[in-house]
Parts: sequence; structure tokens; C-alpha cells
Amino acid sequence: MDWQFKRKYDVCVIGSGLSGMTAANGLAKMGHSVLLLEQHYQCGGLAAYFKRPGGYTFDVSLHGFPVGMVKSCRRYWSADIANSIIQLPHIRFVNPQFNFETTFDRVDFTDKLIHLFKIPAETVERFFNHLRGMNFYDDDKRTTGELFEEFFPNRPDVHRLLMEPITYANGSTLDDPAITYGIVFSNFMSKGVYTFKGGTDKLVQSMLVELQKNGVDIAKRSQVDKIFTKDAGDRKSVCGLRVNGVEIECRAIVSNANLKTTILNWLDEGVVDTTFRKETEAVRLNNSSCQVYMGLEEGDQFPEIGDLIFTSEAPAFSSAELKSYETESRTFSIYYPSIRPESKTPRYTIVASTNALWKDWKDLSDEAYTAAKEALKERTLRSLDKFIPGVADRLGWIEVATPKTFHRYTGHWEGASFGTKFEGLKVSMELPNHVNGLYHSGSVGIIMSGWLGTINYGIITANNVDKFLRRA
Ligand SMILES: Cc1cc2nc3c(=O)[nH]c(=O)nc-3n(C[C@H](O)[C@H](O)[C@H](O)COP(=O)(O)OP(=O)(O)OC[C@H]3O[C@@H](n4cnc5c(N)ncnc54)[C@H](O)[C@@H]3O)c2cc1C
Repeated sequence: MDWQFKRKYDVCVIGSGLSGMTAANGLAKMGHSVLLLEQHYQCGGLAAYFKRPGGYTFDVSLHGFPVGMVKSCRRYWSADIANSIIQLPHIRFVNPQFNFETTFDRVDFTDKLIHLFKIPAETVERFFNHLRGMNFYDDDKRTTGELFEEFFPNRPDVHRLLMEPITYANGSTLDDPAITYGIVFSNFMSKGVYTFKGGTDKLVQSMLVELQKNGVDIAKRSQVDKIFTKDAGDRKSVCGLRVNGVEIECRAIVSNANLKTTILNWLDEGVVDTTFRKETEAVRLNNSSCQVYMGLEEGDQFPEIGDLIFTSEAPAFSSAELKSYETESRTFSIYYPSIRPESKTPRYTIVASTNALWKDWKDLSDEAYTAAKEALKERTLRSLDKFIPGVADRLGWIEVATPKTFHRYTGHWEGASFGTKFEGLKVSMELPNHVNGLYHSGSVGIIMSGWLGTINYGIITANNVDKFLRRA
């Protein structure tokens, strides 16, 4: 095979998701030679975008992140990237239990909880302070559901308000550890919801410019399928990998690919001990998603209907309903032309997102799969019609993605949108204790998920790899 890159690096990073790119960039800035390998023809991983005829550009996972992204991007990327982050001020909730607009921050949520939901001010204050004080190292065994019951007993409407947006943001449910809720919700509550002006395409291009400036070799269409190790005392040590059939030598590897693939598929049997292997096998994946991408016909426009709409027709909230095959709960992300001010083809686009389960989609025959996608389109258009009457007749493009789509483009087991459940964090963090020089960095444990979580994990991993390389 024709290989245009070197055959020996300090570090190979497998996967160019936000975490992989951040780790690669950090390591290159620390002075290490870095090869970034991406199996797809486009970098970004789930931070994906795609273009369609008619001048449409669709964003896959640019729906909103906490303000912390500004600091992380300034520190680990560039001032230009950080300066393109803007607030989405119009967040709407529309469901049978409540209907209002919010800036989705602590001040406005406090106001809504007190005046709309009639919760005593003291309880609201105590709740927010409790969340702020939550610490990853606390041994708090409570679930999010139990936490809600403690502060807001018998108030399913309040539970819905607090949980629904976070389920969309990181796939967590009422049954997950309260810490996974507390950290992420507090991040959003600090100053609201933010997005990247210019779209995912501009963000990824800007990151690639930085990576190249810092000397990272970037190999796209490069599929890794094996990690090589050698004896190193009481455990194995990383010595290289195989990509597109070519063997590359390296002293450390950061895998941004799926945690389970990395440990269970790419390492030889016996490289990690049986207990750790079993622990990895037991890691549960987070749910997947469906999306409907819609573009308004050229020249058409609609009035401002909000930036992000959490809408549902389900009478009450339940984590199961949100993930069910025929869920009536979805978010609409509305992209006005102002999001891509430099675009030569200004368009209004909308992305409808629902949570979804791999098991509901994986075994459908081609015929049933096509029919299921059509049915999803119809349900989505029916729901959107309430906000934009007659929308079905005004579209220049419509297309559906399912858990199978996410699986195909990222290789994530079960098309997981947000990595693994909480227990994945421990396995991910402990990997280098089992194989010298092998690190994982990417959405895991709910907390390290989403754009902000995964970028931060990327830099944490880069620092650990740097320490390892210097020690070695
Ligand atoms: C529908 C949807 C909506 C979302 N919305 C939001 C949102 O609004 N806000 C938010 O903060 N987060 C959101 N997320 C989550 C967020 O997109 C992810 O948490 C984040 O982008 C994941 O980044 P990552 O680096 O961890 O992994 P990924 O982006 O999954 O990257 C992994 C990379 O590894 C590559 N790879 C895999 N196997 C190999 C191999 N064998 N060889 C080489 N490369 C390989 C993949 O191709 C991929 O590029 C959403 C996710 C989905 C699916």
C-alpha cells in the first residue's frame, strides 16, 4: 500500500473526533511527533457536517454546549475559535405540561421554578448550590431520579424540566448516577447554551489549520485494526499499530475510537488481564439517536421561532418514552442564515433530534428500514408544522439519519451518540495501568461526553501521555 507518512512517531492518535484532535494538538504543542489517523474521509467524528444540493450545509451535533467551551477552545485551540462561540438565547419548552421560552441559565431557571412552578425560593437555591458542590470524587450513590425526589417530591413536571434537556445533551436518564446530571446541568446553568458561529465545517477546518501549523500529520481514510505491544516487565507496552495494512511504530497511542473496540478488538488476547477484560465487556453503551435534516426552499424564510425547541406530545416525561421507537419527544435546532454569515448560499435549516436505541433499528430489512425512516419523517413534519405551518411543502431537502448511520460513520458500537455509561470512565482512565502507553480519550462516562466534555478529556489525556513519554 502507498503510505505517504512516516513509519515512526512518538504518538499515534486513532480517530479525529473533537477529543482525538484536541489530544493530537496538545501533544504536538508539547513537542511530540504525532500522527492523527481517521478512518473517514472527513475529520471531526460526530462533530460532523455534510453538504447537499441546493446549497444546504447540515450540522449533525451542533445543537448547543455550555459556555465552558470558550475557555477550553481559547486554551487548547485558538483565540479565533473561542471568539466564534456565541450564545443561543431563545430556548423553548413546548409540551403538555408547560410552554415557555428561557435563556436556560440559573437566573432564568430560578425565576421559572419559583414563579411558574411555584417552588419555594429556598428549595431552588438549595438545589442549585447542591449541584454546584457535587464532586466527581464524592461517593454519592444516588441516582438523578432520587436526587429530584429529594428536592422536588411528587413533581413530575419539574423532573421533566430538569431532565429532558440533559437527556438530549448526554443521553443520561433518571437511573444514572446523580453526579452525571449535576456536573453537566451546572455547566449549562452557569451561562446558558452556546453554539459555533460559522458552523461545524468552519470549526473543523479551523482545527485542522491549527493541527497542521503545530506539525501533526493527518491521515484520513486510514482505518486502524490492530495495536501492537511488547513485553515490558510485569505488563505489556505499546509499540505500534496497523493502519490500512501498514505497520507504524510509536511509543504511545491515544485511541479516540470506541472504548470497547480499542480494548476488546485491537489488543491480542491476554494483553490485559481477565478481570479488566471482563470489566470492559460489562461497560454499557449510551443510547444512539435519530435525526431529520430539513432545509427550507431557496428564497423562503420563516420568522424567528427560537433557536432550540424541546418539544413533546407525551403527557408526562419518562426516560423510556424519550428513547422509544415512536417517541413523540424531540428537539428542533433552528439554523438561521446568520449562523453561517460567510455562506454564499444563505439557507434556513432545521435538525430534529430524537434519542433512539440500536436494537430498534439494527435488524430491520431494507424495506422496513426505508419505511421506518419515512414514518419518522412524517412524525417529525407533523410536529414541526405547529411551529412552521405548511412546512412540508416548503422544503428543498429532507433526509433521515438513524443509529445505523452513526454506527457506519464512526464505528461506535450500537451507534452510541454519547459514548458509554458511567462505568466506562473508570475503564478508560485505567487503561494505561494495564498497557503502558495506551490511552483512551473520547466520550465516556456521560461526564466526559458532549463537545465540552470530550475536548477537556482530550487535553487531560494529552497531559498524561506527555508525562508518560517524558518519564520513559
Ligand atoms: C445526533 C447527535 C447530537 C449531538 N448533539 C450534541 C450537542 O448538541 N452538544 C454536544 O456537546 N454534544 C452533542 N453530541 C455529542 C458529541 O457530538 C460527541 O460527544 C462528541 O462529538 C464525540 O467526540 P469524540 O471525540 O469523543 O468521538 P467521535 O466524534 O465519535 O470520534 C471518534 C472518531 O474515531 C474515528 N474512528 C473510529 N474507529 C476508527 C478506526 N478504526 N481507525 C481510525 N479512526 C477511527 C471515527 O471515525 C471518529 O472520527 C451529539 C451527538 C450526536 C450523535
